[in-house]
Amino acid sequence: MPKPMIARLHVDIKMLDADFRSYPCPRCGTESPRHDGAVRHAIDIGLDRPVVLQIKVGVYKCPRCRKRPSFRTPLPFLGARRTYVERCRQKLVESVDQDKMPICLAVRRLDRDFHVTPARSTGWEWYREATPADATVAESQHLVAMNFSGVLCVDEVYDGLNAILCARDPLTGRTLAYELGERMNQEVVTAFFKRLHALGIQPEEAITDGSNLYPKSLKAVWPAVRHQLCRFHWTKDIVQAVVEGIRDYRQSLPKPEKKNKRGRPSADEVTAQRETERRQSVRDEVRK
Ligand SMILES: [Zn+2]
Repeated sequence: MPKPMIARLHVDIKMLDADFRSYPCPRCGTESPRHDGAVRHAIDIGLDRPVVLQIKVGVYKCPRCRKRPSFRTPLPFLGARRTYVERCRQKLVESVDQDKMPICLAVRRLDRDFHVTPARSTGWEWYREATPADATVAESQHLVAMNFSGVLCVDEVYDGLNAILCARDPLTGRTLAYELGERMNQEVVTAFFKRLHALGIQPEEAITDGSNLYPKSLKAVWPAVRHQLCRFHWTKDIVQAVVEGIRDYRQSLPKPEKKNKRGRPSADEVTAQRETERRQSVRDEVRK
């Protein structure tokens, strides 16, 4: 007699029932009758093994919304067309924000602790889509303005079609603000400075490269600010001027004459040859 076997999956399947006879329409609030039913599947966090949710939802037809009457039971813990429940995303975002984990480790942690295995790129998407709470943003902006030293560094970086404008405080090492856009011009820069102004940033000194994007925008937003070229570009300009000066001086020195005679040189030729060598050595010295 064969032994009775119980098939065991290393997955917990949890059934949820969210299929009702009627449901208020999410657009207009009208109680709408059930028209059909459907099943959704989702991945939840599980401490011991992976958890799959099987959720029965109702499909309803709103009598008032003519254009798009049909809707399913909204699930607050699972967004529309999503596979992972909200708290999977939440765990990842908290690991990054509160525990200062890089995304790759936060993804690994989801697997180890909660048996949820999104791809690393999915982890990136989740983090990017998570909007920080208003209070967090306000607190961060308050801190930025409170600790501002009075010196503002601005630069722009290009990556293909995208441009990033970044403002830093070189004395505290904090990033004050940044902006990602598809174009870079005077208007964008002025709008960016106005944003900083609205945060309470009042620079005494602004440091930029030699780009002509900055002078007008700076004067427009902070008329009293002193504008300084950044030390790297300042040094680069000086080095370039020195190199050009030396080159001009070296070219102004008389060139050595070419020796083209064969045979034993006369006494005059020996003197001329020595003079040539001396001139050559002076030019070489200057070049060195
Ligand atoms: Zn409706």
